[in-house]
Amino acid sequence: MTTLNSELIIDPNIFRQNISYIKKKLNKSSNFMAVIKSDAYGHHLENIVRDIDDLADGYGVVRTDEALKIRKLSDKKILLMQGIYNESDFKLARKNNLDMVVHNIEQFNIAKKFSEYNNLWFKVNTGMNRLGFEIDEFLDIYSRYLQDTKFTLMTHLASSNDKNSISNAKQFSLFEDLKEKLHSKISLSVANTGCIMNYPEKSYDWVRCGIGIYGGYIDDDNLKTAMTLRSPIINIRKILKGESVGYDGRAVAEKDMKIASVYLGYADGLPVTIRDGTKVHINDNEASVFGKVSMDITTIDISDNKDCKVGDWCTFFSSKLPISNIAKSNDLISYFLMTSVKSRVKKIYKNIN
Ligand SMILES: *Cc1c(COP(=O)(O)O)cnc(C)c1O
Repeated sequence: MTTLNSELIIDPNIFRQNISYIKKKLNKSSNFMAVIKSDAYGHHLENIVRDIDDLADGYGVVRTDEALKIRKLSDKKILLMQGIYNESDFKLARKNNLDMVVHNIEQFNIAKKFSEYNNLWFKVNTGMNRLGFEIDEFLDIYSRYLQDTKFTLMTHLASSNDKNSISNAKQFSLFEDLKEKLHSKISLSVANTGCIMNYPEKSYDWVRCGIGIYGGYIDDDNLKTAMTLRSPIINIRKILKGESVGYDGRAVAEKDMKIASVYLGYADGLPVTIRDGTKVHINDNEASVFGKVSMDITTIDISDNKDCKVGDWCTFFSSKLPISNIAKSNDLISYFLMTSVKSRVKKIYKNIN
């Protein structure tokens, strides 16, 4: 007998299909950086490197320890997307042939100490106002230190998912004006997934693609959710009109109902804020959340699900039930749901080989 558990099943064939689909949108000369920070958005860093290495031109992460794990498995470019914060990490990155983002003067001063400017990605602020040099500040560094150096100039869009946002046009124009002032040997990188999908002509030399690989991008049904989060039904009961289900009596029955309790709660990573009416699948049929998510249990309205029984799976997202649905209907983002699943959920990675 196996222990009853919720499962997170990860299908690498879906990453591969998603990547192939996205790559068709890019300019021919553009390189594909697979962004696999935060344990590949919860999909398992090392497995994904093994399974997509032939499709990626490089990898983007944030933590040095993740970069080093990748370096053991791949010779491709690896970018520390927020750079390093002390000299010993600079040396470690150099030793392991990691590229580094330089987004402020403190980071540049470390590189300057070693007079090593190769494989640096200079990030400029074009409106996100989070990381990155102001344009003038960067031009000053450029004129003093980088006139003969090959580097990558990068920026990050604040509203790439919104094709109508005027901020995108402003950011592109600042970036392109700056590029005109620099020598021609530099590489350029702007696009995350939203930018690739909405402005494929801006794929420049490197795209930095994360959420699209995993199928969490909202606006394109061709990208499939690579994770399946499912949990068994552990109890079924009938309730009468007027009775309520779960904490705070939030969900009140307007008719007699059938309620399934599912073995997954906020301690497994399903946000406590999930609303009544959120769609799930039970045996490939639709059902919906009814009652506040508890620590270990979520309650589902199965009044219309005829044959469902204890032990059946309730699926919260899968290739057939896009993670963006549950995200959208709860004012969440798929990035958050993917990276929230806790360690007590059994992870099953379907290896390709
Ligand atoms: C996370 C990250 C990305 C990937 O963004 P997606 O929206 O997941 O494609 C790209 N660039 C940088 C700098 C990032 O930190």
